[in-house]
Amino acid sequence: MGVPIIGCPCPVCQSSDPRDKRLRTSILLETQGKTIVIDTGPDFRQQMLRHDVRTLDAVVFTHEHKDHLAGLDEVRAYNFLNEMVMPVYATPRVQQAIRREFAYIFEEPKYPGIPQIELVSFGNAPFDVQGVEFLPVEVFHHQLQVFGFRVGDFVYITDANRIEEEERRKIRGCKVLVLNALRREKHISHFTLNEALDVVRDLRPEKAYFTHISHQMGLHEEVQGELPGNVFIGFDGLVVTQSENESESEKDSESENESEKENESEN
Ligand SMILES: [Zn+2]
Ligand SMILES: [Zn+2]
Repeated sequence: MGVPIIGCPCPVCQSSDPRDKRLRTSILLETQGKTIVIDTGPDFRQQMLRHDVRTLDAVVFTHEHKDHLAGLDEVRAYNFLNEMVMPVYATPRVQQAIRREFAYIFEEPKYPGIPQIELVSFGNAPFDVQGVEFLPVEVFHHQLQVFGFRVGDFVYITDANRIEEEERRKIRGCKVLVLNALRREKHISHFTLNEALDVVRDLRPEKAYFTHISHQMGLHEEVQGELPGNVFIGFDGLVVTQSENESESEKDSESENESEKENESEN
């Protein structure tokens, strides 16, 4: 739902700390000369504007929930700006949702000005996104299969509350892990703060950043103060940079060169 939540009087929603303002979760990855967005939520347009992203080479989806999908129509700007059809990588199930929720994109004859996308399938095996190797990591969001991704030494996982051992092996040895942590109280489909910390203790990345944070988590500053030194609460516009040879970056809809950022939020 983003933070602040419409009409919510709580101290987090009323906070003046910019780190307590959270658009819906997404990242922008800049690596190997490519700019790739993972998920286009309802705030995609605003995120691209805020970070002045002028080139976008591809979109990759983790899953089809509206807070990750709703902004897809806005790729029209890049069809026009970059004079290209946008490659959109999604599993067959997520593609079905895209065809259902954006049916007009697939109608013939095409209405002028609608988004131009090309759906590309992936499953649980490494795949290539415009020359960048993505290793999918299967996670579960209650019963729903969701994919996280490892690109070099960077791993991005959102909307999970279970990761099996076989998939954890794909994450071990990474330098940066971005992981969802919704709030402190138990939730049916998201890791809590403690559950996310357990995953970090098990997987031992050099650094971990939490994303998809609810207003129920508390104030950024207070929660950050409770965490181990290599674990950070993400915030909109955060840029995480990795060195050349591992080239990555990520983040929330935007980026600057080689960086990543993280962004967050939602229900
Ligand atoms: Zn979800
Ligand atoms: Zn979500």
